[in-house]
Amino acid sequence: MASMQNTPKTMKAILLHEYGGNYRFHDDTPVPSDLDDYDVLIAIKSAGFCHTEMLVHDGIIKAKQLPLIPSHEPTGVIVAMGTKVSHEFKLGDRVGALNCHHQCGQCSDCLNDKPLYCDDRNSTGITINGAFAEYQKADSRWLVSLPDEISFEQGAPLMCAGATAFNAIEKCALKKGEILAIIGLGALGHLAVQFAKCMGFKVVAIDNRQEPLELVQKLKYSPDLTIDLSKTDIENAIKQINSLHPPTKYNYSGADATLVLTEPISAFKYALAITKKHGTMMVVGAPREPIPIEVSNLIRRDITVKGSLLASIESARRMVKFVVQHGIKSEIKTYSLEEVPNKMLEDFHSPNMKGKLVVNISS
Ligand SMILES: [Zn+2]
Ligand SMILES: [Zn+2]
Repeated sequence: MASMQNTPKTMKAILLHEYGGNYRFHDDTPVPSDLDDYDVLIAIKSAGFCHTEMLVHDGIIKAKQLPLIPSHEPTGVIVAMGTKVSHEFKLGDRVGALNCHHQCGQCSDCLNDKPLYCDDRNSTGITINGAFAEYQKADSRWLVSLPDEISFEQGAPLMCAGATAFNAIEKCALKKGEILAIIGLGALGHLAVQFAKCMGFKVVAIDNRQEPLELVQKLKYSPDLTIDLSKTDIENAIKQINSLHPPTKYNYSGADATLVLTEPISAFKYALAITKKHGTMMVVGAPREPIPIEVSNLIRRDITVKGSLLASIESARRMVKFVVQHGIKSEIKTYSLEEVPNKMLEDFHSPNMKGKLVVNISS
């Protein structure tokens, strides 16, 4: 194992001790020392707070054991590495990491080059310790190099929100000029709008909250159309979407694909209704109850309904290059580690919450 000197034995970290309990700040948590062959130790600079964190916090998703260090959107610098880490990485490199950790290598998914779906792998910040700490262990097979053009705090939201949004849009397989409707303009949505615009699609941004609707209109790559879901019925929404089509008789009515990045069931109904015949509804938002799909949408309207999980490492690496190429930025609000249990959580639950919450851990 190669390592930089001076890695301390203990560190500052946020811990979840019991489901539904408060996060607690500690300054004497052991620094991970049990690196496997493929592992790296990252000195964390910034880490994002994702919606999934609350599902773990509330015990809906269970960690392997408690206490748990949350956050699965790390960026930082490699300070130690196992013997099998690829030579493309070296000590001192600026990196981010997806949450995937130690796929089994033997299941059908691993053997078919889909390790993302391996049921035996862990997820940092979710099933095992994550990034709200000064150091985090990460699997080097899921590392992304962070170019100098992307700051640590801008890089953090890309490791889950960015990767998930980018991959889901790629899976829609649209052609340039086609219409993508994005429902839910939170952290993923405001990145999805920028990715989709830069990929050459016409973008319809939909939400029922004023702040996110205003935010996307101010982005460098803003949508072609915004729709306030609470004030616009489906018929009116389709009429507005159709105004983005060139007026030829070959065009179907509605969006070529619809990307659902939010959870209310009403959003899924709306999405399906504004998707064109033969179009695609891409599901990323995960409500706790089943989503209603009338069979006529599948049979008579020939709509494809698909889901999308995080991203392959190849897609995540493409995304980081794409962000640099187009100068895409996340709207972020930053906090210190000590502020996570109170100030950051209060902001997260605020109805006016927009963009992404990022914790700066060391400079
Ligand atoms: Zn996430
Ligand atoms: Zn596997």
